[in-house]
Order: sequence, then structure tokens, then C-alpha cells
Amino acid sequence: MQQYLQDIADRCGGTAGEVASYIPELAAADPDRFALALATVDGHVYTVGDAEVRYSIQSISKPFTYALALADQGAEAVAEKVDVEPSGEAFNEISLAAQTGRPRNPMINAGAITAASLVRGATGEERFNRVLEWYGAFAGRDLDVDEGVYGSELGTAHRNRAIAHMLREYEILEGDPEETLAQYIRQCAIAVDTRDLALMAATLANGGVQPVTGERVLETGSVERVLSVMATCGMYDAAGDWISTVGMPAKSGVSGGIIAVLPGQVGVAVFSPRLDAHGNSARGVQLCERMSRDMEMHLMHVG
Ligand code: GLN
Repeated sequence: MQQYLQDIADRCGGTAGEVASYIPELAAADPDRFALALATVDGHVYTVGDAEVRYSIQSISKPFTYALALADQGAEAVAEKVDVEPSGEAFNEISLAAQTGRPRNPMINAGAITAASLVRGATGEERFNRVLEWYGAFAGRDLDVDEGVYGSELGTAHRNRAIAHMLREYEILEGDPEETLAQYIRQCAIAVDTRDLALMAATLANGGVQPVTGERVLETGSVERVLSVMATCGMYDAAGDWISTVGMPAKSGVSGGIIAVLPGQVGVAVFSPRLDAHGNSARGVQLCERMSRDMEMHLMHVG
């Protein structure tokens, strides 16, 4: 396995794509950083490259906060506020579904900000602290925030601010939208490494039980829901292409990470900061396509 991962990392190179620049702090990332990690449901972790270099989790946070909203409020209450339909839109689209008045899904920013507001807690800070602890349970260690990324994004979050205020206007958000906005941006700035992400993915692969600590973090019913929205919406407007070629529930983030989950078997994480036009790691996508083919990981694979 170790040898295979090294080989595939060497074969899937390339310098296509651009590092995200709309968050000033992310623009400073080293574009050539690379890491790959694979964690099995029985707790083995294989890594290649800079697997212990930390970066902000960004949108890979979205499925985990959605999971926490489901755990805190129940599926029905969450569904009243955020739908599960693929949007075919960019991650930061300022949009609600015309028919329902709800964000289309929790993997785009409008839905993710909504999910953050549904975490239990009287204030944004209380909700955030629950989120931080929750991600730590998936990773199997205590996590903290990259304050530089947080400050940098908060100061330039004009689009997300517009989305939060739109959600407030349509009564999807309650309370102060600025508080929820800050909570969401702080969640995106939680620092993880590629090994953490592989274990977070493996916890989903393992039906909600963290493979190393043995802790049950999430109920299996919620795992199913989370993986379903990752499969249909996790890669934004490239979700259809991804599910056709890679065939696993996945989530990307603008700092360059991608997680993919093979239920019952493994969690994969890859990190390479250069992004394609959809905001997904270019090398990460290439590598996952290759790995899925080589190891027959496509969920719809027959034979
Ligand atoms: N914090 C980023 C944003 O909200 C996350 C986006 C992403 O990773 N795609 O714009």
C-alpha cells in the first residue's frame, strides 16, 4: 500500500491550476506542497508527502458541521432550513432555491452557513466551541484555529456576508447574521493536516465510529445522509463529473484539500493547493481519479 501511494503521488504530478487568492492568507500558500493519506476503518494510516503540514480545513468542514446540526436538531428540523438538492452552482453562489426559499444543500456556502446556525448553543462562540470539539472527535485529537486565516477571511468576506444577510432576510437564519458569519468563517479556519482529514473521512467510512479512539461520534443514519450529500453536492459544479469518474462521496476545500470516503473501507485525503476552475484541488482530483480506477474504488463498479 505504502509503495502504491508513493507511486501514484509520483505519477500524478503537474502544476495545473492556481492557488486560491480571494482569501489573502491562502494566496501565500506554497503551491508545491503535497500530501496524501489513507486511513482504513481498522485504524491503519498510510501517508506520503507532507502529511503533517497544517492548513485551514475550509469547505471540508461543511459535511462535519452538517453532521453536527443533524445530531443536535434531528433530520427533520434541519431539512426545514436546508435542502439536499445538487445546485450545479459555484460554492459561493448568492442563491436560494426559488421553489423552497431554502439553500439548495449544505455543501455550498449558503447551506453551510445555515447548518452552522443550527448547531446547539446560545451564541456563535458556544456553537463554535461545539464545532471545534466535534471535529476533534472525528480527527482523534484536539484541534485549534489558524487565527491568521480567520482574520484574513473575516476582513474580506463580502460575498459570505451578503449570503448571511440574505439568509437572515428570508428568515432562514435567526439572530445576528454577523455572529453566524464569524462562526462559519472560524470553522473554515480550523487547522488540520492530511492525516487528520483521512481519519475524519475514515470515521464516516466506519459508520460514525472513529477508527483509532473507538468513539462513536455520529449515528449511522446521519452518516448515510452526510455521505449522500457529499456524493451529490460535495464537489460543487463538478459533482457530476466527480461521481462519474471517481465514484465516492467527497468534499473539497479552497485551501487544496479533498477527502473521499469508501464506505466500510477507507477514508482518503489529498492536499495540493493549486485549484481548478471549480475551486477543487487540480492534482487532488487527478490523483483520486487514478486511485479509484487502479483500486476499483468506484461505488458503482460492477465485477
Ligand atoms: N471559507 C471559504 C468560503 O466560505 C470556504 C470555501 C471553500 O473551501 N470552497 O469562501
